[in-house]
Amino acid sequence: MCALEHEDLNDEPLDYIRAEREFLRERDRREELGEKTSYEGNRDRLHELRLENSSDNYPDYDEDAPQPLIPVAQLYYRDVPGLPWADRYDLLQILWCPRDHPDADTPFNPVFELRWRRAEQVTATLSEPPRPVICASEYVPNVCVVHPESVTEYPNTSDLPEPLAHRILEWAEKQDLSAAYNWNVAFAPGWKVMGHGGIWGIIDPHPIVCDCGAEQLPLFTAASGEFDGGTRSWRPIEEAGTGYRHSDPVEVVIGRGYTLQLYYCPESEHHPGRTEMF
Ligand SMILES: [Zn+2]
Ligand SMILES: [Zn+2]
Repeated sequence: MCALEHEDLNDEPLDYIRAEREFLRERDRREELGEKTSYEGNRDRLHELRLENSSDNYPDYDEDAPQPLIPVAQLYYRDVPGLPWADRYDLLQILWCPRDHPDADTPFNPVFELRWRRAEQVTATLSEPPRPVICASEYVPNVCVVHPESVTEYPNTSDLPEPLAHRILEWAEKQDLSAAYNWNVAFAPGWKVMGHGGIWGIIDPHPIVCDCGAEQLPLFTAASGEFDGGTRSWRPIEEAGTGYRHSDPVEVVIGRGYTLQLYYCPESEHHPGRTEMF
């Protein structure tokens, strides 16, 4: 549960968010088959769905009570090599509160919650896990199966020795793309674990420091898409022929299309992880 304060800019009932996405997927599927759908018809159906999936269906809902989290990623160490503390855990569960938090480490973003586990010790599961009534639509991921791929990232040029950083920038200029190193070589776009970080677009790169004084490291990155025209070198081979829509299967949006990165303290999993948006 999340007991922080919420100030949602775009909150909707979770039931409506799911119904709307299902409707839009079905509309797209029909249109791809050549069927024409009308703007008015689609608009009216969405209006009906909004009425059918109102939060009024939950008369006991208390918006001031702690709000249930939703699952974001479940990662088995056998599928995702390199996760920390492999001697103690074999499963990492990542949840977040899918709402805007004015008082969070990174304000107006979802708030992460981690569970480090040994899968064999999870014996009892809830038949009906608590679910939020109201969410920010941007923070509700589509249900996805993870097909992780190991890639190698490289440090930000500001963390490299100056002569090497200089040579990289010279090389990038020759590619006719000054961001060639960041976009094509150093930082994998999209959802990922570990790695060197990301392309700091809206703020300058800076170390993420734990309360204990240790520098925290990237653990999990939530992104507003997987790849695009600028980061095509990272496109999975099996998705070479797909269009832009398929590069965003999760359909989460962070800020104005940014990335939210969660860090962990290498000293202890009990030190709260910090976040940064860029
Ligand atoms: Zn919350
Ligand atoms: Zn620490």
